Amino acid sequence: MMSEILPNLHWIEGRASNIYLWIGEEGLALFDTGMSGDVDKILDYVTKIGRQTTNLTAILITHADMDHAGGAARIHARTGAPIYASKETAVYIKDGLSPPHLPKWVQFLMDRFFKYPPVPTTAVHQFTEEGSLPDLEDWQVLASPGHTMDHHSFYNPRFGILIAGDALNTRRDRLNCSEKRATADMASARESARRLLRLTPAVIACGHGTPFTDHSASDIMMLDRALA
Ligand SMILES: [Zn+2]
Repeated sequence: MMSEILPNLHWIEGRASNIYLWIGEEGLALFDTGMSGDVDKILDYVTKIGRQTTNLTAILITHADMDHAGGAARIHARTGAPIYASKETAVYIKDGLSPPHLPKWVQFLMDRFFKYPPVPTTAVHQFTEEGSLPDLEDWQVLASPGHTMDHHSFYNPRFGILIAGDALNTRRDRLNCSEKRATADMASARESARRLLRLTPAVIACGHGTPFTDHSASDIMMLDRALA
C-alpha cells in the first residue's frame, strides 16, 4: 500500500515494514527506509507524487533493525540526504548490524549472514536523546527503548503525528506494544509505549501494520491499561 495519510504525511509499505514520507515546508523527510530492496519503490513514489528526490533533506531512523535502516545507505547515495540517528543507532548502522533483541540463534544468523549495506559515518548526524531536530522544526525526538535499546520515536505536536517505529504496532488490527519474542527489554518497552500513548496522537504511524488514524480515546486507554 502507498497512500496519503495527511496532505503532508504519506505511507509507503515496504517488504517488511512501513516507511513514512513527510512533506514539510523545509523539504521532504523520510522516517525509516525499509530494506535495501525497498529503495526503488520509495524513490519512485516520491517522483510519482510530483516531488523530486533531490528535495529529500533528511532520513530519520527509529532504530537500527534491517527492516528499518537497511535502505539508508542506498537512499543517501542516491539523494545525498543526511541521515539522522541516535548515538547508539549510529554505531550499528555503520556496520549494517541489527541491535540485539531477537532469540540468540536468530541474532547470530542476522549478525553473521544478514547484514545490510553499511552507512558511511560522514552521512550520519546524531540527534540528542530528547528534544528538537535542527532541520525539522515541527518534530521532537523521544527516546522509546524496549523493542531495541537504541529505539527512538518522533512526534509532531502541531499535527498530532507520532512516528512510533516498533514501540507500537497495529498487527491483528489493534494497537499493540512490541511483542515479547522480539523485544530486548519488556519492562522498558511497556513504559515507552505508555509514554507515547499519553501523547494521545491523532495519527499513530507504526513500523508494522496499518497506520492508526481513526482510533478512539478508548483504544488508547485499553492498551495503556493492559500495559500498566
Ligand atoms: Zn524492529
